[in-house]
Amino acid sequence: MHHLPESLNQHRVSITDLDSVCDGEVRFSPTKFLWLGGMASAAIIGGIWFFSWSGFAVFFLATGAVLLFGHSLGSHRKLIHDSYQCPKWVEYIVVYLGVQVGLSGPIGLLRAHDLRDYAQRLPICHDYLRHGSSFWKDAWWQLCCDLNLKNPPKIAIEPRIADDRFYRFLETTWMWQQLPPALLLYAMGGWSFVVFGTCARVTAAVIGHWLIGHFAHNEGGKHFEVKDAAVQGHNIRLASILTMGECWHNNHHAYPGSARLGLFAGEWDPGWWTLLLLRRLGLAWGFRLPQDLPARAELQSIDRLGDTLLVPARHGLRAPRFVKLRLGVYLEALRAKPTKLRMEWPAGTLGLEPMRALVGDQVELTVDPTLDLLVVHAERKSFVGLPAVCLAMAQRGWRARIVAFLLMPVAVAVEAIRASMSLKPGIV
Ligand SMILES: [Zn+2]
Ligand SMILES: [Zn+2]
Repeated sequence: MHHLPESLNQHRVSITDLDSVCDGEVRFSPTKFLWLGGMASAAIIGGIWFFSWSGFAVFFLATGAVLLFGHSLGSHRKLIHDSYQCPKWVEYIVVYLGVQVGLSGPIGLLRAHDLRDYAQRLPICHDYLRHGSSFWKDAWWQLCCDLNLKNPPKIAIEPRIADDRFYRFLETTWMWQQLPPALLLYAMGGWSFVVFGTCARVTAAVIGHWLIGHFAHNEGGKHFEVKDAAVQGHNIRLASILTMGECWHNNHHAYPGSARLGLFAGEWDPGWWTLLLLRRLGLAWGFRLPQDLPARAELQSIDRLGDTLLVPARHGLRAPRFVKLRLGVYLEALRAKPTKLRMEWPAGTLGLEPMRALVGDQVELTVDPTLDLLVVHAERKSFVGLPAVCLAMAQRGWRARIVAFLLMPVAVAVEAIRASMSLKPGIV
């Protein structure tokens, strides 16, 4: 057999022969077909019959909550990757919400995820496991069929999960678990809420899960490459909010154990933001980040951003003299009218042109994607974040200065919240 990367020795999955992830048959699954078909038909027919705007709102809220807390934080970042720690009762709630996605039970989902994850890191694997077929064929396969491997790999699940009575209960009853929330929805808003809050939500989540999985293995940006892997992960920037950050799949292939998926400036990751919030509430801790994971010889960076994690020595930390993040300090800076401002920022959210339009021609602008915050340097002091943008904007003239004075309290407050959430020792 090929020489396989050492990192695979730590995996739940193990094989003795590459054939065990290649040799298999894709077979029609009546269960999958009826489950999704039933949900989708009920969503379409019921959606027309019982349409209401409040039902529509319930669909958005319920789908968002289940994807964020359930799928992303519960099933994926906690149960499967154990990338952060939390009280057991929190874990049970988020994993329960993960079951609400309607894909499978928690243990079934873990097995399916890990089999794919392992197979994708090997030099070859079945097209089913790497979303390697054409769009429509992949849709049919993933949504209505199962892969029956002739000699499937062993998957050793640790007792923490395999012996947990609650997880075993959810595993055998996962379809029935749609019932309790559906009854609650019925009591709250009748059939309209049930159709939108359950049937439409499950349909959207199951189809969306496949869609993202298909694109995340076929097209999109990359910072990293896993050498000799059967398939690479791709980042799908446009789906960041929709997927609660799960779309940063190239980052995930590089650092599967990281609690944070959007690793660089502008890579919006609502799941990570929520974890930071839970951390403030004392409900989550022990986050594992790329720096905490064992090095992998097969991992290569293919752009400057990838370098910042894989070749950190090249990126010596600059140590500007930051001013204190206090309203008085910033108002004083505004009043003193510093000249010759120089702004450096990662341009993750706001690019060069919009920034130029905002701050005018007086400020020297430098885009540096490897930075993780915006900095404005005056002659001897440096300012950060939104308050620094206000300061730079004030260079445009007296009207802009008045606006900057008015916006500064909000800017400082927002920046203070952001700094207090940050894992790094603050600049506050
Ligand atoms: Zn993948
Ligand atoms: Zn994963």
